[in-house]
Amino acid sequence: MLTIKELHIQGFKKVIEATDPETKLHCIIAIHNTDLGPALGGARIRSYHDKEEALQDVLRLSRAMTYKSAVAESGLGGGKSVLIAQPSDKSEKLLLSFGKVVDSLKGDYIVAEDIGTSPEDMAIIRRATPYVAALVNEKSSGDPSRFTAWGVYRGIQAVAKTLWGSPSLANKVIALQGLGSVGGKLANILFWEGAQLILSDIDEKKLHNQALLYGAQTIPADNFNSAQCDILSPCALGGIINDETIAKMRCKAVAGGANNQLLLPSHGRKLMEKGILYAPDYIINSGGIINAAAEFDPNGYNPVVARDKVNHLYDILLQVFDIAKKENRPTSDIADDLAEYNLLHGVGKRAVPINFRR
Ligand code: NAD
Repeated sequence: MLTIKELHIQGFKKVIEATDPETKLHCIIAIHNTDLGPALGGARIRSYHDKEEALQDVLRLSRAMTYKSAVAESGLGGGKSVLIAQPSDKSEKLLLSFGKVVDSLKGDYIVAEDIGTSPEDMAIIRRATPYVAALVNEKSSGDPSRFTAWGVYRGIQAVAKTLWGSPSLANKVIALQGLGSVGGKLANILFWEGAQLILSDIDEKKLHNQALLYGAQTIPADNFNSAQCDILSPCALGGIINDETIAKMRCKAVAGGANNQLLLPSHGRKLMEKGILYAPDYIINSGGIINAAAEFDPNGYNPVVARDKVNHLYDILLQVFDIAKKENRPTSDIADDLAEYNLLHGVGKRAVPINFRR
């Protein structure tokens, strides 16, 4: 039997935990904030050690989605869901019962894919609820990573403009970690922009092939943070900016697509004190959410609209860098200020409700 109970957590609009022993479902959905629109965020399947670990993860991730969507002015709020399960436990029954839990929130939370879930899984969940984004069909916004990669490129241009007076990346040395959906596309763009690439990936074969393709140097995964370069572009792991890595960094800026790059908020200040310009992760990597939000346009999804909005990340980041310099404060704090301002004043608030069809 499916059981849903509310966990009352201060600062969050609604957090629910659901279990169903028959389908092996044990999930938590956190809706952090819906002031600007319904919360959109991925469903992550992971074999968490215990419920507490899962809860902390979903709370952190849902709050980050609020901030990302607020700065992107996407007309969406912040939410996330986690399923405590082994990847081998994933079944149609499990996904359908999870879909019923999403449905119980009546559109306050819209689910999308994340680590451990796929577009095919979303199609199954869609049979239980209409509150699903980025489905594989011709009205869908499709693979977000090409928009994420382009947004990261625009962010790197903003870094170049701020540090060297021109957005040109010709002959700039850029060390890029993670040649996946985002990093792989970014490497291609940077190559054609004339950058000199230093690549890193734990997948040796992929690394070798991409290095050949772009005439790039390679660096072992463990040494990535100490790469001598102009810009360090993390596009794989979270938490990679911490006391240990900052001490080793030999770059002038950090600008990459990975989520949750700062291990602690205070690491934004430590980067600043070391003279390293940081492009706040949830701004520079928001191209994907901007594209997903375009799916809910009353006129239907149009990639041109999404592209134009993603291009605007260049201006947003220039503004963040400018304010940070004038106020001598970390760029990460300025990003938080911008998100909180938009939330408080309803900037980017959804004007027309999303039309979900059952
Ligand atoms: P992906 O799984 O397609 O690619 C990740 C790549 O990183 C793989 O090639 C993997 O081998 C490599 N990798 C893993 N650990 C590594 C390590 N220690 N050193 C070097 N390489 C390593 O993932 P993705 O979709 O490209 O996402 C990358 C990052 O960007 C993640 O942090 C993700 O949360 C974030 N992000 C992605 C999107 C998107 O649109 N896909 C949007 C916003 C943020």
